[in-house]
Amino acid sequence: MDFNTAVQFHGHICPGLSIGYRVAVLAADHFKDRSKDEELVAIAENRSCAIDAIQAINGCTCGKGNLIFKDYGKHVYTYLKRGDKKALRISLKPDALPQDEKHNALFAKVRAGTANPDEAKKFRASHEAISQRILEMPGEELFWVREVEIESPEKARIYPTLICSKCGEGFMEPLGRVRNGKIVCIPCFEAKNE
Ligand SMILES: [Zn+2]
Ligand SMILES: [Zn+2]
Repeated sequence: MDFNTAVQFHGHICPGLSIGYRVAVLAADHFKDRSKDEELVAIAENRSCAIDAIQAINGCTCGKGNLIFKDYGKHVYTYLKRGDKKALRISLKPDALPQDEKHNALFAKVRAGTANPDEAKKFRASHEAISQRILEMPGEELFWVREVEIESPEKARIYPTLICSKCGEGFMEPLGRVRNGKIVCIPCFEAKNE
């Protein structure tokens, strides 16, 4: 459970990854488990860099179906053991990371591609400093953590494969559509008339 594992997986150091790492370690300590067999499930309420730390550290991944997204744009992470209602809800405190105007202005420039090399360097330095601060902050200053009860999310299901009558590619049965009386995949269903 080393931060470098998460950095390697994600490709860079950033505040989002640091937040995800702290969340992942908290959850791992609580459940004392790396999810090898889909046991530990994470429900993330955002799609940010933080998710990659959760995948790398907790082994909760999109592919295995034990990482579930709710696109609420919130740094809230709920963990549970499959089949158990007792969950751990970890929520980033809104005032945990004070807004840094200078940093935000640099970030905007870097994103827009208008930062000069000096500004880009300054941005990277403060980006990493913030990331480092998150790694070192006491947990209780970063997060609200509480135990909650939730309905266990459904296990990733396996479906038969159907063959699209238009493109000939296979797809999961419940995602089939009917077009002109024939079974097709969603892209073929949505394609403009040929
Ligand atoms: Zn990142
Ligand atoms: Zn098709």
